[in-house]
Amino acid sequence: MRRGLHAPVSRVFQSGTKGKMSLVSLKGIVLHTKPWKEHDKLVLLYTRERGKLSAMARGGRKPHSGWGAALEPLTVLDFLLFEKEGRRLITQWQIEQSHAALRGDLPGIAVALYWTELLAELAQENDPNQRVYQELTDALSVLGAGLEPVVTNNAFLLKLLSLLGFWPRLDSCVSCGGPVSGKVVIFNPKAGGVLCPQCQVFGRSITVRATTLARARALVGFAWDELRSDPESDGELQELLRLFLGVHLEKGFSPVLTFFSRLDQTVLSPPTRDPNTR
Ligand SMILES: [Zn+2]
Repeated sequence: MRRGLHAPVSRVFQSGTKGKMSLVSLKGIVLHTKPWKEHDKLVLLYTRERGKLSAMARGGRKPHSGWGAALEPLTVLDFLLFEKEGRRLITQWQIEQSHAALRGDLPGIAVALYWTELLAELAQENDPNQRVYQELTDALSVLGAGLEPVVTNNAFLLKLLSLLGFWPRLDSCVSCGGPVSGKVVIFNPKAGGVLCPQCQVFGRSITVRATTLARARALVGFAWDELRSDPESDGELQELLRLFLGVHLEKGFSPVLTFFSRLDQTVLSPPTRDPNTR
């Protein structure tokens, strides 16, 4: 579907003119929308060029406005953004990718919506990061292609945490900086990483195999087309990420994000783990 945008370009073709108006061509993934006044919607996107950005979709609440699937979360839009005095309006657009296959797959769509809500919460406006955009685009393609959602979810969360500066410390003690060794180590989600034996504290610490931490480090740098499941560590890594993000979600993240994080936990069954190996 398209509406009037025939040749996407990434350039400002009217800028700095009277009233500080500008019109710029952008590409972005819809994270979510909110109703705005009687007829409009406020759209939150993660754009390739400008990072997280909100803009108005005039008439977006009207049933026959023509916006249709363009305002669904996960839709990739090429659009023209009109800006004047801090107000932003999507004027023309076309859908580049709707991720239709993903929408019929419950585990896949739950994971994907968890990502968009997480990005809406963690990313800052006016902080463009093309790698975040590219990782989300690639991860959605892999998810739609049928790779096990647990594996794709682990990989995307690790890459996102790393790119946005929330990466847990996994190579040395998060408290004293000392070395952490052994086949099994202590991970404390609240402290934000692994702890050496001298710094172990009471609370929600878990034991994690060193091989799982190695898997976490490897997944951050993996190319998506090289991604394979690893039943030995994927379930344990999923648990580690749930606890780590759960601690931060409880610090006041939005109810919507909390809902999707729980949905994600409900629909994703971790690979079977042998408890005797811990
Ligand atoms: Zn320590």
